Order: sequence, then structure tokens, then C-alpha cells
Amino acid sequence: MSTPVFSIANQKGGVGKTTTAISLASALAERRKRVLLLDLDSQANATSGLGLPKTEGRSILSALLEDADVSSLVQPTSVPGLDIVASELDLAGAERELANLPAYLQRLRTVLSPLAESGRYDFAFVDCPPSLNILTLNAFCASDGVIIPMQCEYFALEGISVILRMTDKLREAGAAPRLAVEGIVMTMYDVRTNLSRQVTDEIRSHFPEAMYATLIPRSVRLAEAPSHGQSVLAYAPESTGAAAYRKLAREFLKRRAAKEA
Ligand code: ATP
Ligand code: MG
Repeated sequence: MSTPVFSIANQKGGVGKTTTAISLASALAERRKRVLLLDLDSQANATSGLGLPKTEGRSILSALLEDADVSSLVQPTSVPGLDIVASELDLAGAERELANLPAYLQRLRTVLSPLAESGRYDFAFVDCPPSLNILTLNAFCASDGVIIPMQCEYFALEGISVILRMTDKLREAGAAPRLAVEGIVMTMYDVRTNLSRQVTDEIRSHFPEAMYATLIPRSVRLAEAPSHGQSVLAYAPESTGAAAYRKLAREFLKRRAAKEA
């Protein structure tokens, strides 16, 4: 079976995209799923958060611009079952170069497809930059679904409608025929504030199907883990953050199974 691909995206910065990408991917790997993480952000936070260096010439860039085989760019991480295609700083400049290529929105889909078709992985996740730029649009066009992490704060709803308009447009134009919203993850939930509850209630009332029931709490351990080059599951396996992402992984799998049935 071809590997389903999910973009983890939100044009707003610092909402928990990378944390969700690393932690959900690690939690699925812990459940013996074979997972590939693609770091499509020039900040390379997913790469460094899993303890890997930015490696020039071994990033997704060589595939996007030079047709390098994506399988040759895959690197193992310290998490058994989780592999990564790293990022490098030049990804920032890649946008301009990509825009000059024919079918530039389909580059990621084209170069990823042999690996996806090989069925080597159960799931692939793309950690997107905080912008709806050409790299993110490439991720959307290569994806079966978008997972949208949302911080529990005001204006969350406005942000989400921008992404939904974009995914609808790409699907209607035939550029991303398979693209659907896979789920909305509420992050940095603070049980002590009314705001977290109000925002979560509002998103749930608008997107009752899409919003995951699992809420990711604000957790110091989650914020600390990347500086140790480890996922929170390895760094603080007993923390509330680790427990939340394990729960999200279970919910993700349940939803996948229901969709595939
Ligand atoms: P960017 O848009 O810059 O790529 P992002 O959306 O990927 O950011 P993260 O890097 O995952 O967001 O998170 C932003 C910051 O918040 C990081 O310092 C991260 O460690 C911290 N953080 C993420 N989730 C949580 C959480 N649930 N509790 C506490 N801190 C968190
Ligand atoms: Mg990020």
C-alpha cells in the first residue's frame, strides 16, 4: 500500500507544528509503526530537535531541485522506526529556484512518490514552515491530509480559515486532488485559564469532526526536549506532554482505521 502523507501546517509561527511532528511521529514509532518525517522548514527545528545536524547536500533540497532520489536522503534517528529527511538553511533560497521549475507545485509529490509507493513506511509527515509559501504548497500537493496544530488563543479561528481556503483551492484546481483536513490539534492547552477552554469550545463547535479530542497541555518538558535533541517521549517519558502525544497517536490511528474502513 502506498504510504499516506500528512502535512503538519499552520502559517502562524510557534503554534506547535514541529513539536507535534516530532512527538506524534515518535509516538507512532513507539507503537511499531514505520514513520518518515520530512523537514521542510529552513529553521530545521525538526532536524535539530531529533538530534541531527543540518547536512548540506543531504536535505530534501537536492531532491526538490536536482531530482535526487529521496530514499538516498533518508537518515535514521535515535528513535527506532523513525527516519528523517533533514532540512538545511538553503531551503530558504530554494523557494525562488523552485518557482522557475515546470510544475513547481508538484515537485515534492513527484520526488516522493517512488518512496511512498514502495510502502517502506506506514506514515509520512511533513513539518512545514510558518508560511503558506511554495514549500508548504508543495507539501499540500504531496499530501493526503493536513494536520493543523492550533494554539489555544484568540484569532485561532481566523487562522484556520486561511488554511482551509488554500486547501480547498488546491483541491478544486486539481493540484492536490487527495488533500483533506486530517485533524486539528489544540496545543499549549492550559487547564487553569478560561481562554484555553473557550477557544477549544469554539474550534470544536465549528469543526466537531476535525478537532482531535486529545488536547496537548502546556508542558515545560515539551519545551525542553528539543534542546536535548530528543523527542519528549525519550526525554521525559512520564511527563504529561509525552502522555498527551501518545494519546494523540492512538486517536490518530483510530481515525485512520475508521477512514480506511
Ligand atoms: P515555527 O512556526 O517557528 O516552525 P512551530 O509551529 O513549529 O514553530 P514549535 O517549534 O513546535 O512551533 O513550538 C514553539 C515553541 O513552543 C517551542 O519552543 C516549543 O518547544 C514550545 N512548545 C510547543 N508545544 C508546547 C507545549 N505543549 N507546551 C510548552 N511548550 C511548547
Ligand atoms: Mg516549526
